[in-house]
Amino acid sequence: MWLKFGIAPDGKLVFVEDVPSGKTVLLCPYCYGGLTAKRGKVKQHHFAHSSATCLPVATRDFPILPLYDSFNIYLSRKDLAQLKLLWKEYGSINYPISPGLVTPGLVKAFMFHKNVYLNPPAYEFTNLGKIPVGTLEFDFFNQVQEPLLLKKLLKLELAAKHALYKNAADKLYCLTDLTLYRAQFQRILSCTLYFLEIQTSKGTLYKIGVTTRPIQQRLAEIEADLLDHYKTVEIQILGTWTHRGNVELYFKHRYQNFNYRIGSLTEYFKFGATDANAVLSELHGMKAKVLSPVEIEILKDNISLSQVAI
Ligand SMILES: [Zn+2]
Repeated sequence: MWLKFGIAPDGKLVFVEDVPSGKTVLLCPYCYGGLTAKRGKVKQHHFAHSSATCLPVATRDFPILPLYDSFNIYLSRKDLAQLKLLWKEYGSINYPISPGLVTPGLVKAFMFHKNVYLNPPAYEFTNLGKIPVGTLEFDFFNQVQEPLLLKKLLKLELAAKHALYKNAADKLYCLTDLTLYRAQFQRILSCTLYFLEIQTSKGTLYKIGVTTRPIQQRLAEIEADLLDHYKTVEIQILGTWTHRGNVELYFKHRYQNFNYRIGSLTEYFKFGATDANAVLSELHGMKAKVLSPVEIEILKDNISLSQVAI
């Protein structure tokens, strides 16, 4: 697995994005071995063991949030390629797909559409099926992802309860899985999503991002980053959305064709004026996040690994 969290000396979980690259004082949540933060450009940012990797990290799947940083909905490489092709040929023009073209692996991404007006019956893309091709609008994306986030939480809670009840050999690892999942969930809920328009000496840029701090504080850092590349920088906040950290990476996936890299900075986009307006109205089209009782509890929780020992 790509280990994304380490335990600080006070028991708190620390996310890999919040520490500089290199040796840390953090410990592995599974084996308490020392960790080194790896924040290179090729692999996902992660923690590596300073000595040998422990068995749980080598063999368990990291309990990731569904549809947070991977959007291929668990399709095989072959099915994913077919899905993209079907979208291009049929989905994008709203054309029904003959069942003969859809392999069983793809059926879960489609809804069998037995419309009386369609004879013979045909497949069409569901909201879930549009996510790998990045064509689902943000509001619908939230409607697909939010129940999946809660469903996986429940699954991990049940697995941990079951392991404790059975006194299973991996019971502590199951509890660690649950704690790491709750920490990630807390992170996306505590983040505010923002969308910025930036006038530079070389034209207009847009930026998507998230922050847990006051937005003005973040703007000062963004301005400093950009002044390394542009003579003048003027930032305007187009919108902020609380508890919407879940959308940032899907935004990058959905609009990857508009991504504009500036050195090592990856959160910038170049949209024409019309496209920028469409993107903004799509963001404003998201329903405000209403926290469920479980989510309120996660947000308030002082998540640390010391809880696991109880
Ligand atoms: Zn370990």
